[in-house]
Amino acid sequence: MSETVLLPGTASLGVMGGGQLGRMFVHAAQALGYRSVVLDPDADSPAGLVAHQHIRADYLDEAALAELAAQCGAITTEFENVPAQALARLAERRVVAPAGAAVAICQDRADEKAHFKASGVACAPYAEITTAADLAAVSDDLLPGILKTARMGYDGKGQMRVRSRAELVAAWDELKNVRCVLEQMLPLALELSVISARNAAGEIVQFPVQQNLHIDGILALTQVPAPAVGPELAAEALASAARIAASMNYVGVLCVEFFVLQDGRLIVNEMAPRPHNSGHYTMDACDVSQFDLQVRAMAGLPLRQPRLHSPCVMLNLLGDLWFGTDGAERSPVWDQVLALPCTHLHLYGKASARPGRKMGHLNISAATAAEAAATARAAAALLGLPTQW
Ligand code: ATP
Ligand code: MG
Repeated sequence: MSETVLLPGTASLGVMGGGQLGRMFVHAAQALGYRSVVLDPDADSPAGLVAHQHIRADYLDEAALAELAAQCGAITTEFENVPAQALARLAERRVVAPAGAAVAICQDRADEKAHFKASGVACAPYAEITTAADLAAVSDDLLPGILKTARMGYDGKGQMRVRSRAELVAAWDELKNVRCVLEQMLPLALELSVISARNAAGEIVQFPVQQNLHIDGILALTQVPAPAVGPELAAEALASAARIAASMNYVGVLCVEFFVLQDGRLIVNEMAPRPHNSGHYTMDACDVSQFDLQVRAMAGLPLRQPRLHSPCVMLNLLGDLWFGTDGAERSPVWDQVLALPCTHLHLYGKASARPGRKMGHLNISAATAAEAAATARAAAALLGLPTQW
């Protein structure tokens, strides 16, 4: 089944989830002439609004899954918390890439870390906490640390920083005593990520390493080429990401996030079984985007090594930008931003802005990295985003 080739212009491709990642996937699929189908319960989902067909139903709705499988030659996902049973059900009839088993590993921080270890890639020292006895048995070495829910965390949600045992106990209560991992707080020098695409034949292609800045646990900015990453470190990150993908027999686009510690060591943080916010620059700075590769991998088309043709800075556009200092809702000054050279604005079509909500992103490409950074700082200043990076 995985050897199936779905030629452009002849088939429908489906996606579980209707968020912005699904929307950009739909755009890429449509550019190649595929029909697109989105399954998402939300009537106004960003992807549902642009797909040929929107099946508006719960992810576990049997009739909806049957309809999706009937319509589509292959199905992918745009979020890792899609129920594993839903992917298993679809896989009975169609190519599902990535496979439910790989998505399941990414859904659970403890399983994910076990997989990193098995792949021979170092992750932060951690302990799994399921019971009060686990909590009591935690080693002092893990403090100060970060307590993270094993499942359903994103954008820094479901995480609490703890300095002492007393804070740890209080934090676990606050997280309702669900299964967690406690990670040692590491001295970070910087953060980077790698986007890989792998097909059923085991061929893998990768974008260059990108450097990421998070503010308040949410990605704020991505730069490529990564300004503070030397060739050896970049090669290590690419090789580690490839090993992690291969050892899951992964098919699709995979993002692996890393920390670089102050002593220079590379540590894997987490992974996402889909295109990633830190790969959005590929839409305007590479000859093939992460969404193009998602389409190619699931359709069984050849993967070609993508080429970064322009240095780029990506600024994330959160809902905060839609509110003035007086708290009143407003539109950001897009006309002024678009007057700057080589700015590519992507808005996700979300009807209402909320602080912290991902509304869009702005890619700034240029002939040189210095030019891209200077223009990005000018855009950030116009938008009221941080310019010190
Ligand atoms: P997302 O889904 O947006 O990637 P998340 O909610 O899954 O985020 P993590 O990636 O685990 O969260 O953590 C968010 C950020 O918190 C990291 O990018 C990093 O800046 C910081 N962080 C997480 N774990 C550690 C750690 N062990 N030591 C130091 N900083 C950390
Ligand atoms: Mg993360």
